[in-house]
Amino acid sequence: FDNIDGVIWFDGKLVPWQDANVHLLTHGLHYASCVFEGERAYGGQVFKSTAHSLRLKASANILDFEIPYSVAEIDAAKQLVIDSNNLPNAYLRPIAWRGSEMMGVSAPGNTIHLAIAAWNWPSYFDPAAKLRGIRMDLASYRRPDPRTTPALAKASGLYMICTISKQRAERKGHADAMMLDWEGRVAECTGANIFFVQDGKIHTPIADCFLAGITRATVIELAKRRGIEVIERRIMPEELAGFTECFITGSAAEVTPVAEIATWRFTPGAICEALMTDYAAEVQPKGERAAA
Ligand code: PMP
Repeated sequence: FDNIDGVIWFDGKLVPWQDANVHLLTHGLHYASCVFEGERAYGGQVFKSTAHSLRLKASANILDFEIPYSVAEIDAAKQLVIDSNNLPNAYLRPIAWRGSEMMGVSAPGNTIHLAIAAWNWPSYFDPAAKLRGIRMDLASYRRPDPRTTPALAKASGLYMICTISKQRAERKGHADAMMLDWEGRVAECTGANIFFVQDGKIHTPIADCFLAGITRATVIELAKRRGIEVIERRIMPEELAGFTECFITGSAAEVTPVAEIATWRFTPGAICEALMTDYAAEVQPKGERAAA
C-alpha cells in the first residue's frame, strides 16, 4: 500500500504518495498516541465530512492533544485530496499523531501531525449479493471497560484487539467477528456497529463503551424516517436466537446484512433491504455536486 500513485495531504501540503513517511521514533508508533477517521466520498463529495472532522478532533482531545487545524481546514483538505487524485468514489483516511521530537511516555511538546490519504474504493450496492449476508464469528476479546481506556475515541490503540479478532475470524472463514463488552453484553464488530431485528423493530446496543458510529446515527435516522422503531438497549448474546435479521453499519461497511454469528442464524429481509436502499440514496452528493 506504500507504492500507489497519487498525493497525500501531509501537514498542510500535498506530497507524493511514496514520500508520506514518518520517523521510526514517532511517539504515535511507540505509544499509540494516534487517532484516525475512515470515511467515504460518493460522486466527489465526502459523506458527512464535518461530522468526521469533528470526531477526529474530539478523539485527539480525548488522547490529550490538539490537532492544529480547524474543522473547516480539515474538510477542505479532504476535498483537495479527492479532487487532486481524481477520486470521486474513495475511502479517506485522515490520521493525526504525536511526532518524534522526544521519546518517552510523556512527550507533551511533540509536534502534532495530520495526514489525509484517499484511495479508490467504490461501494457496491448489489442488493441481491449483499442480502445473502456475511458470516461472523464471536471474538474472544471483549471491548474494554471505559474506565480502563478512552473507549469512545477512534484511537489506534483500541484497534489492537480488533485486528487480532478479525484475523482470527478470517482464518476460520468468517468475514468479521462480533465483540462483547467487558460485562458480556453485545457491543459491536471490529470496525462496524451492529443491529438486530425482532417483530419489525430494530434493536442495537447502547454505545457507552465503543464507537458510536456516524453510519449508526445515519441508519437510526433513516429507520425512524420509515417509521421503524429503534430501541437502544443492553443486549445479551443469548438473545440472538430471538432476532430474525441482523446487519452491521460503518463508513466502510455501509449497511451489510449478516447471515450468521457463531451458531446463531439470521435471514436478511425487508428491513435490511430497506435500509440498504435508503443508505445508498442518502450518501449521494447534495447541492452543487449533485448537478455536476
Ligand atoms: N466501530 C468501530 C470499531 C469502527 O472502527 C467503526 C468504523 N469507523 C465503526 C464502529 C463505525 O463507525 P462509522 O459509522 O462512524 O464509520
